[in-house]
This record gives sequence, C-alpha cells and structure tokens, in this order.
Amino acid sequence: MNEILTQGKSIYIQISEMIENDILRDILCEEERVPSTNELAKLYAINPATAAKGINILVEAGIVYKKRGIGMFVAKGAKEVIQKKRKDAFYQDYIASMLAEAQSLGITKQELVQMIVKKAFHMANMMHIPVLGLVENFSYLKCPDCGKKIALFGESNIDEVAAKEGTRVLGKLPLDPAYAKAADAGAFYEMENPYLDAAVDALKTI
Ligand SMILES: [Zn+2]
Repeated sequence: MNEILTQGKSIYIQISEMIENDILRDILCEEERVPSTNELAKLYAINPATAAKGINILVEAGIVYKKRGIGMFVAKGAKEVIQKKRKDAFYQDYIASMLAEAQSLGITKQELVQMIVKKAFHMANMMHIPVLGLVENFSYLKCPDCGKKIALFGESNIDEVAAKEGTRVLGKLPLDPAYAKAADAGAFYEMENPYLDAAVDALKTI
C-alpha cells in the first residue's frame, strides 16, 4: 500500500485496487488482515467512510471478509478472483482497443503477430532468457473427415517471422477437434501430440 492516489479516479476505487494489487503481488496473503478503514483513512488522509466504501467493493466480490471484532481478512482464492476480473478487463482495455486501432491503421493480423513476437523476443533477450524457437498456436484447422488443412486465420507467416528474428519454428499447432474432444473428456494428457516433436527435440538438446 505505497501507491499514491491520483485525481483521475474515485478514491474508493483506488483504495480497493491498491489492496487488490497487494494481493496480486503476494504482499497481502490469504487469511492475512487487511488494513482497517481507520488505518487507511489515516494513511491516505481520506474520510473513513470513503475507505470503507473501497473495502466494501472487495467484500462484495468475495476478495475480503469480515471477522467480527477483529477486522477484515483476505479470503481464500482471492488472488484467483482478482486475476479473473483483471483478465476480463485486460481484454476490454487493451486487446479489444488494440485490435480496433490495428484495423483502422490497416495493420494485418500477420503483421500484428510479427510485432508481438518481436516484443516478446526483445523482452526475453533483456531478461537473458534463451529462446529455443517459436510455436504457432491455432495455425490452421484440420478437417476431422479428410485431414485437409484450412487456413482459418489466413496463411501463416510464422516462418518469415522466425527468420526475421533469427530463430526457428518448432511447431505449428492446428485447431484439432480431436484435441477439444479429448480435453472435454479429461483425457488430454493421453493424446499423442506429434505437432510438438521438434519442440521436444529442442528441449532435449539443452
Ligand atoms: Zn474435409
């Protein structure tokens, strides 16, 4: 709880988000006591009722709960609840608007993939994480009847992307209805996955 309040957002929402951030970063763990409304009020020089309003959002979401006479505590599974909520918001706030902007700029899906791969690559380099190669997910759809490859999201350019970044392609995973079926039956781990053979070989060389 060392963040500074800004003017762009209601204070009580900022209070609830700061507590959520602490839970996400394991600063506040399950069954640990959350700062009281009075403590929060003092810390941020705000009205205790405002702090209480922020805490209340977390209670309603099942993130914190009240122990009578003791205080507010982080609920079991709170982190997962927050992650789920933030993932949905992430899609809305970043992904959906990014795709809309890309479309208005005439950036193709393949170009977008290239940009994301490039970014991921540089990030891995910065963190000194060696990159063995690329695996393309949802590369194509495999017809369950005849096995024909259908380029559902357009022709893949992953080979070009890999060449540009000086790496190799270790697999192209199709959308295979057989996998979906196996996953639904809880038998995914029994499936043979020849699409990742090259990736397995690459891992064995380490
Ligand atoms: Zn077919």
